[in-house]
Amino acid sequence: MISIKKVVWYRNFLFRHRAAKICVLIELNGAMKSSEQLSKIDGKTKIAGVFGYPVEHSLSPLFHNAAFARLGLNFVYLPFSVKPEELKIAVESIRSLNIVGMNVTIPHKEKVLPYLDEISPEAKVIGAVNTIRNKEGKLIGYNTDGDGFIESLKKQGGFDPKGKNVFLLGSGGAAYAISFALIKNGIKKLILANRTYSRGRALLEHLKKIFQDKCQLSLVEFIEKNSSFIMSEIDLLINATSIGMHSGDPGLIAPEILPPNIFIYDVVYNRKTPFLKLAEERKLAFLGGLDMLVYQGALSFEIWTDQKAPVEVMKKALRRELSK
Ligand code: NAP
Repeated sequence: MISIKKVVWYRNFLFRHRAAKICVLIELNGAMKSSEQLSKIDGKTKIAGVFGYPVEHSLSPLFHNAAFARLGLNFVYLPFSVKPEELKIAVESIRSLNIVGMNVTIPHKEKVLPYLDEISPEAKVIGAVNTIRNKEGKLIGYNTDGDGFIESLKKQGGFDPKGKNVFLLGSGGAAYAISFALIKNGIKKLILANRTYSRGRALLEHLKKIFQDKCQLSLVEFIEKNSSFIMSEIDLLINATSIGMHSGDPGLIAPEILPPNIFIYDVVYNRKTPFLKLAEERKLAFLGGLDMLVYQGALSFEIWTDQKAPVEVMKKALRRELSK
């Protein structure tokens, strides 16, 4: 006869044994997954990446690697911390190391132009490159910021800029790319404002020279961002300044002047800015810099791989990381 005590011992033994087996299986599974990922890097792996300084904050490796994995492409995307004085040699290394593509971010977007073999007409006009393709040793520079902005506006925001009136704050690199893309996409009126008026004027003159009378262009003082008259005549208000990047940054717009039917876009992507929070509180339609980031990244991905980027996968990878 088996005693009750023995039955209980045997049951506990089996349970412990099973639990241990499950633990081993889970660990093995995890190890297999990471070794599977590692084994994907082989002699044929193609390298893409980003040059920035600093670059540690970059979110691009996350969504590019997720996109490569989803499409089963033997590519890897890496961050490269490139000091300004080493930019030239870093660009030359794209060719010598046979890297297929590179993103370029602050502070290299303008400085990189002289080191490239060819520059797309768009990047030339904007005066900045955010994507390089290495085509059989020839380095071609592109700028996907403007088109990324427009794609996100249309596809994610459901807003077609054609025939619309736009107020754009800022006259730095982002504003150049966005203003160019907006006019190309048929906006009716563009009002510019920048803290440093002379930089705003330089952008205005640049756009007038390229587009002549394709769009009604004007420049107002930065303080006019709080003009209810301007607000009443615009459909889209864009923050392309760095305001909102740092905690404690001042609010951008006096809350009371925002009309109820305006579309808000804030290109700052490292946090949910007070401007976006205001738009949300006011139940206005809005998009943030992460939307632009994903779509400009998707266009870079397509330049390097000649394949349609899995935008939803890229967005999901970003959301997953940011929710941690
Ligand atoms: P940038 O070339 O350095 O230009 C900065 C702009 O912000 C200038 O117009 C500058 O005005 C203005 N500004 C800075 N601090 C200000 C302040 N305290 N008050 C008023 N204006 C101020 O930079 P950028 O490349 O255009 O980038 C601007 C923002 O866009 C950054 O937050 C960047 O991260 C973001 N961005 C996002 C994406 C994306 O994919 N989401 C892509 C590119 C850039 P002054 O001329 O008076 O200095």
